[in-house]
Amino acid sequence: MDYNINKDGYYGDFGGAYIPEILYANVEELRERYLEILDDPAFRMEFDQLLRDYVGRPSPLYFAARLSEKYGARIYLKREDLNHTGAHKINNTIGQILLARRMGKTRIIAETGAGQHGVASATVCALMGMKCIVYMGETDIARQQLNVKKMEMLGAEVRPVTSGNKTLKDATNEAIRDWCCHPADTHYIIGSVVGPHPYPDMVARFQSVISEEIKKQLVEHEGRDYPDYLVACVGGGSNAAGTFYHYLNDERVKLIAAEAAGLGIDTEKTAATIRRGRKGVIHGSYTLVMQTEDGQIVEPYSVSAGLDYPGIGPLHANLASKGRAEVLAVTDDEALAAALELTRLEGIIPALESAHALGVFGQKKFRKEEVVVLTISGRGDKDMDTYIERYSQMGIL
Ligand SMILES: *Cc1c(COP(=O)(O)O)cnc(C)c1O
Repeated sequence: MDYNINKDGYYGDFGGAYIPEILYANVEELRERYLEILDDPAFRMEFDQLLRDYVGRPSPLYFAARLSEKYGARIYLKREDLNHTGAHKINNTIGQILLARRMGKTRIIAETGAGQHGVASATVCALMGMKCIVYMGETDIARQQLNVKKMEMLGAEVRPVTSGNKTLKDATNEAIRDWCCHPADTHYIIGSVVGPHPYPDMVARFQSVISEEIKKQLVEHEGRDYPDYLVACVGGGSNAAGTFYHYLNDERVKLIAAEAAGLGIDTEKTAATIRRGRKGVIHGSYTLVMQTEDGQIVEPYSVSAGLDYPGIGPLHANLASKGRAEVLAVTDDEALAAALELTRLEGIIPALESAHALGVFGQKKFRKEEVVVLTISGRGDKDMDTYIERYSQMGIL
């Protein structure tokens, strides 16, 4: 079985490019050029150099001795939290800004929910001296002032979106609308492995540096270049796609995706898109979508702002439907407990998204000799308000 994208832009049944006529030229230009640009050695050299000197790659693969002791497996953490700007998202925005420049684009637009992708986009625009406009729902702007101010300090314009629930889905619609109006000079940096083909594949390729490094680092640690398990959290699915990428077709390696159950997968307050979603089109991609009987998109919920997207990258919809990846749903409470546990066992405060990946240890048993690599997608600084609120209620802080 081949779990990579096919030449038509599909992963099995999922993917494609379901876009309005007016966007066709933009997406087609990207589709025609992205592989040639990514394969160009000069592009590769510039990308690799920025990943090294600006992002701080390779990120360490850290053997977590006390966590391993507790759960009875050989657990390694891939430390994307140590990247510049604190998460894996910068790998993608660096790649896309270099691509935009090569395509002669001078204006960047992006959507953001919690603001993490907005900050990563504003960061690379400052780096390259490009104009940056970030669409963000009004509700999110009110909740995420620190990231709004970071984007503004970086020189980006944050445009409030007032339609719908005024959150990520609405911001994405607004960014797509902007792109329609400015096809010639604008590149749209999408923040995950979602959207119309070629975005899911392009973003997966930029994030694939994660598994490229894991391969090399495991040889040093374990004398073999593959683990028994890979574990990552899934919002849209970009850190998981990067973690799985070079192992997709290596069936010795079992893949585990952790999605956000919110208050529980059987409640209305959940973001477990794979478990609860049904087939449909969202933002140009045929995938699994949280929707009502008549196809209205349902607003997802998770304590973690980075995981509450109502869709899922088509790559993951396919991995789940083929049984290649095991999907576990981790609740708010399980994630909060896992975040505190990692902090106390290893001295690492993870992002709330990454804490969902860590929640897998509470649900699944591993054997002592099994090698488990888990990606810590980001650091917890941005989540301190939530941690303070929740742990105070529990009498821990
Ligand atoms: C945005 C974000 C995620 C979720 O996005 P994916 O595309 O699923 O990786 C996960 N972790 C962190 C730290 C994030 O900022």
